[in-house]
Amino acid sequence: DADISALDPEIAAGIDAEAARQRGGLEMIASENHTAVAVMQAQGSVLTNKYAEGYPGRRYYGGCEHVDVIETLALDRVKALFGAEYANVQPHSGAQANASVMHALIKPGDTVMGLNLAHGGHLTHGMKINFSGKLYNIVPYQVREDDHRIDMAEVERLAEEHRPQLIVAGWSAYARQLDFAEFRRIADKVGAYLMVDMAHFAGLVAAGLHPSPVPHAHVVTSTTHKTLAGPRGGIILTNDADIAKKVNSAVFPGQQGGPLEHVIAGKAVAFKIAASAEFKERMERVLAGAKILAERLTAEDVKAAGIGVVSGGTDVHLVLVDLRNAALDGQQAEDRLAAIDITVNRNAVPFDPRPPMVTSGLRIGTPALATRGFGEEAFREVADIIAEALIAGPDEDLSGLKARVDALAEAHPLYPGVADLA
Ligand code: PLP
Repeated sequence: DADISALDPEIAAGIDAEAARQRGGLEMIASENHTAVAVMQAQGSVLTNKYAEGYPGRRYYGGCEHVDVIETLALDRVKALFGAEYANVQPHSGAQANASVMHALIKPGDTVMGLNLAHGGHLTHGMKINFSGKLYNIVPYQVREDDHRIDMAEVERLAEEHRPQLIVAGWSAYARQLDFAEFRRIADKVGAYLMVDMAHFAGLVAAGLHPSPVPHAHVVTSTTHKTLAGPRGGIILTNDADIAKKVNSAVFPGQQGGPLEHVIAGKAVAFKIAASAEFKERMERVLAGAKILAERLTAEDVKAAGIGVVSGGTDVHLVLVDLRNAALDGQQAEDRLAAIDITVNRNAVPFDPRPPMVTSGLRIGTPALATRGFGEEAFREVADIIAEALIAGPDEDLSGLKARVDALAEAHPLYPGVADLA
């Protein structure tokens, strides 16, 4: 069989170019990471050939004895990592995990409360044209205008008024920790299920550096590819046997057909890594880097340019930059950083006057750089580069900043010793 570079040079060239982009620039999209080579080996393996509808020991296909071992390892590891009694590692993505839980626990037309997308929630927490917004009656809650924190008194008031069947706690763009116990108290008060979507902060939870939602929520969902640094995919955890049964049936055959056993093997490898002391040390650098970034982006020279930080700082792996009073909008700021090879994404900020394709914010995360070995000194340097780029005038020469980015990338090689990633 021909190697990809011989068989399909166009696709091989695309992969090479993407590897060069990742190696040459600084990845600061908060939902991204650089997964381990071992995870990519698992994903690129013969496991992709195998059909395994069902669950370990109860498959609808023959020849599943080896994938059963692999999926069981993934299940055992993720349960141990997060202290959960039951798990499902088959969701193809975070969105599928959330869809499966909703499918398992509530019916179309039921009421769901989730964080407003414009205030940091995810599409699957009730956005109008997402399945969640179409199937369920969505009552969004939001952050306060003065301190940009979720207003738990408002959550309670809305829950009492609308009596939801499900409350979703979790976020894609929010820089603070949630009060899971308080969410559960409110859910219990109105007879709702509580689902925590920890997609963004799962790696911090695994490392013991962020409170765990597992003891509080009826069910916890997550992606595996953000702070957790595994392959792209989803997981579902619970301590309730009845919910676990419903969730399993909602994932397969409810939402999906055959599980992606090559991805499940990659998840298992990632769970093993996430249980290590090295991973905890990496997550400590993720948090330290985000704090350094928030401090630099609230310094006087940045403030003078009308730039701020949503909620004034961060407790997690990301910083939300507030450009509502700045010369640059979100699109321009994203482009400005792209020009010096720092990749971030523009993001709506709470009470954003600009449309979602433009926005007045940037979401900047530290997980991928921590994976590359960034420590406090390197994070101070990248924070300073970002601050200087954002306050620069429209015609200013950015080549000096670009050279500093190049130096950081060179000093922190991605996948050192691995020449060919295609
Ligand atoms: N949940 C949250 C909180 C997310 O931020 C995301 C992804 O951005 C998802 C779910 C969906 O994950 P996926 O992109 O794997 O469907």
